[in-house]
Amino acid sequence: MAKTERFSYSKLGKAETCLARFREEYERDLRLPQTYSHTREVGKGVHACAEAYKAELHASGMEQDLSLIPIIVENYFSTDREVTTTATYDDVFFVFRAFAMKYRHNPKTYLGAEFLLQRELPETDIIIEGWPDHVDVQNDEHGPIVVSDDLKSGYSSTVTPEHKFQGEIVDWMLLPMFEGSRVGWRVSMPRADFTSPIEEFKPEYSQRLEARMRSIIARVHRAREEQVWPATPGSACAYCPIAAKCRERNVLADLDVVVTSADEAQKAAADLIILNAAYDQRREQLKAWADEEGPVEVGDSTVGYVTKAGGLKIADALSLVQKLGIVEVQREDGTDDVSIETEEERVRVIALGFRAAMKDRLLTVDGNRTKTKAIQNDERLNGLWVAGDSKTSFDIFKTPKKADAST
Ligand code: SF4
Repeated sequence: MAKTERFSYSKLGKAETCLARFREEYERDLRLPQTYSHTREVGKGVHACAEAYKAELHASGMEQDLSLIPIIVENYFSTDREVTTTATYDDVFFVFRAFAMKYRHNPKTYLGAEFLLQRELPETDIIIEGWPDHVDVQNDEHGPIVVSDDLKSGYSSTVTPEHKFQGEIVDWMLLPMFEGSRVGWRVSMPRADFTSPIEEFKPEYSQRLEARMRSIIARVHRAREEQVWPATPGSACAYCPIAAKCRERNVLADLDVVVTSADEAQKAAADLIILNAAYDQRREQLKAWADEEGPVEVGDSTVGYVTKAGGLKIADALSLVQKLGIVEVQREDGTDDVSIETEEERVRVIALGFRAAMKDRLLTVDGNRTKTKAIQNDERLNGLWVAGDSKTSFDIFKTPKKADAST
């Protein structure tokens, strides 16, 4: 007897966005390398801590207990984990704390978290399944509603079509469990202190959603039959674990390919999107390494953090204007003796100073331009320079020469 096929919402989402990625992740017996990803590690950590927190509150009957935050994070990171970094620890702590500050537990309306939901997709022998982050009963303007809450640990505060697809699938699975009740979904983004409004999923929406899921699954079945798995470069590449080896990434690697036609431009642009995703992933991995172990030297180059001095700038624009204004008054009046005692004298100095600053492009509509090296010898500006803030960035730089130990 054929095994029943199962599709989670993330599996459906991946099949819909790129069949090539779907094949690598779900069809081939391919073990994707579990290399470090800060985003993934933070997501896992925040979800695990939130789940543990709710379990503690449920057991104690408390609505909120912020003293649990450090204990739960410590417990999470004390378990045997392959990779952890200071940045991951700090970020999990920060996002989980933001979540806990807002969350109020009510054992009477709480229906569970991270439990397996399943439902057969009509007219198929496919089971749709998923693990909602949180389900409870809320109240909106129409009364009580069973709400699935999707916890996101990233930086966004925007509800995307992907969030909607996932929210609707969870609600579609909840409908038969809570027959007669209204169901809805929302997204919580504690990092941005944002919770989206509750979107009700009405039973009549089911047909549309079921048709969409069936068409995605039909595409997978056809690709399997024909063994044709097209790649679809796009925004999903940024999260694709196989971006570095994606077969669509071939244009820049081929020296004969130039961008002289619309077709080549299309290929090159797709190439760039995937290359960018692969680059970002490598960079994330190396940053995590450099955070803990320091820079990596390769020949005469180094990959790691570099701190650059901020350079000189004139931070005080009013002093700049005043100084230029005095020089202008000296020039116009042919005297070194400039007084700025009265309101009239002050206004004249400032007006002439502004005119000179604008003329010499030291101040423009885009702001203070005095960081330009070319003007640092301008005698009118002596005494106004201050050192800018130094900046640390992750980069590739020439390895600094080591000091000779014998000297
Ligand atoms: S990198 Fe993009 S196009 Fe390539 S498999 Fe991944 S999602 Fe598809």
